[in-house]
Amino acid sequence: MQYLSLISIICMILSISCRTREIADLVIINGKILTIDEDNPMVEAIAIKGEFIITTGKTSKVKGWIDEGKTEVIDAGGRLIIPGFNDAHVHFGPRDPDYIELRYITDPSIITEKVKVQVARSKPGELIRGGHWEHEMFTDKKWPTKELIDKVSPHNPVLLSRADGHSILVNSYILKISGITKETPNPFGGEIQRDPATGEPTGILKETAQNLIKTGEAKITRSAEEDSAKTWQGYLLAMKEARELGVTSLQNAGAADFEAYEKLQKEGQLTSRIDIGKPLTGDTTVLLKYRDVEKRYPKEGDWIRFGYLKAFSDGSMGSGTALMFEPYDDNPSTSGLAMWPYDELEKMVLTADKMGFQIGIHAIGDKANNWVLNIYEKAVEVNGRRDSRHRIEHSQTLRQSDIPRFSQLAVIPSMQPTHCISDKRFCEKRIGRERAIGAYAWQSLIDAGSILAFGTDYQVEPLNPMEGLYAAVTRKDRLGEEGEGWFPEQKITMEEAIKYYTLGSAYAQFMDNRKGMIKKGYLADIVIVDKDLLTIPESKIMKTKVDYTIVGGKVVYNSGK
Ligand SMILES: [Zn+2]
Repeated sequence: MQYLSLISIICMILSISCRTREIADLVIINGKILTIDEDNPMVEAIAIKGEFIITTGKTSKVKGWIDEGKTEVIDAGGRLIIPGFNDAHVHFGPRDPDYIELRYITDPSIITEKVKVQVARSKPGELIRGGHWEHEMFTDKKWPTKELIDKVSPHNPVLLSRADGHSILVNSYILKISGITKETPNPFGGEIQRDPATGEPTGILKETAQNLIKTGEAKITRSAEEDSAKTWQGYLLAMKEARELGVTSLQNAGAADFEAYEKLQKEGQLTSRIDIGKPLTGDTTVLLKYRDVEKRYPKEGDWIRFGYLKAFSDGSMGSGTALMFEPYDDNPSTSGLAMWPYDELEKMVLTADKMGFQIGIHAIGDKANNWVLNIYEKAVEVNGRRDSRHRIEHSQTLRQSDIPRFSQLAVIPSMQPTHCISDKRFCEKRIGRERAIGAYAWQSLIDAGSILAFGTDYQVEPLNPMEGLYAAVTRKDRLGEEGEGWFPEQKITMEEAIKYYTLGSAYAQFMDNRKGMIKKGYLADIVIVDKDLLTIPESKIMKTKVDYTIVGGKVVYNSGK
């Protein structure tokens, strides 16, 4: 004790800096650092201690925080550095190694082949699952039918979701067990697609018609340990994917298993922060239970947090179930489907808002968005204005008169740029050019004063943020079509796209005071990429890879380059 205090006395006499100089755990030098901090937009270096950034600035200055042997130093060699990506809308969970991946296929016969292979690996009666197909990507652009899979799966139930999850293809095995025939009426909010000639179900079930499904799957004798080992492996795979893509924060749209993420955290495997929500309800008993969950995973936390309450107001554009004011151009017999009667949705929002919850409602069609804005407006009238940061998930097709209402009501448009470049292939066919003007209207929303939150809707779209950045700045298909892009006046700059994918998303989860910028006092969630996104041609954006992912000051991924 005496010895230590003697040292400190000497320090005091010899040098002030001896007392005040901080040593960083990690220092990054020689970077081109886009901070997203308006007051200090570009710096060269960052010093980190523990989970937080302690300073930023020129390399020469920040080097002063290095203590040889104690501080880890990354020389970025001029590479671009940005805040970690924060995906504001994901459906995250364990990856299933048996899932049949059909994303981006153009030839429907691949469905037949892949199902055949998986059936051969399975026991009779075992459930075969897969999806992410989009009939708009098929060369014939036709909805797939049960005939594609029936002949290769006579003894197994098969479920293959469309990429948006709003429609599903099933085989005759499932139709039979579920008792779905040409006589079965469409349920409220759903459709059993039928062959126009025969009236027979085609195997496509839309929206709530999916609730009719009974798989009759055979119980596969796997021990509980085998089951949980498989799930655990699935979580590890999912986490690995996120960190390799530089996604340091995830906001789950809806419920997920809090305890699984706690286990990941305990075992040092949680490499992305995650918010987890619950389904919106107007039942106060349930809402009180949610409050208990929120106490355990509070908003003040930085890792596993209680998110927002989620509901659906309508379906999707791809499935022709988004709720529109006017009928669809390509199917004038429908203007989409409401998932809830208006009054019921309003009642739920008013109750949950009054209890202080944040709410996020899925709305794709112009009428659905109008409804949700009306309901949020009503919540302000009835319960008073507070910093509620209610969100509209997707905010996809908007009437011009509704665009300024987002910022007036402080409602966050939570949007997914890749939906634009996926859906633009059929959007005009479905709703016509006039209504498409208000679709994915990022620039109009920004001009009207909105703060956007960007995400992917993973697993509807891939988790890779580079696809979102590409979509936001080009509005072109993934092959890089000629021209200026689809409604080019709605394109935004790369800096803006990165901002909404980081700070914008942090704002949507009440974390903009500590996340989303590279700034002193902020959480050290940082990504180093291998190409300069700010200067490279469009064609290279989706080829950009992450070299380092840092979460809370820890390097969780290093490409080795
Ligand atoms: Zn979603």
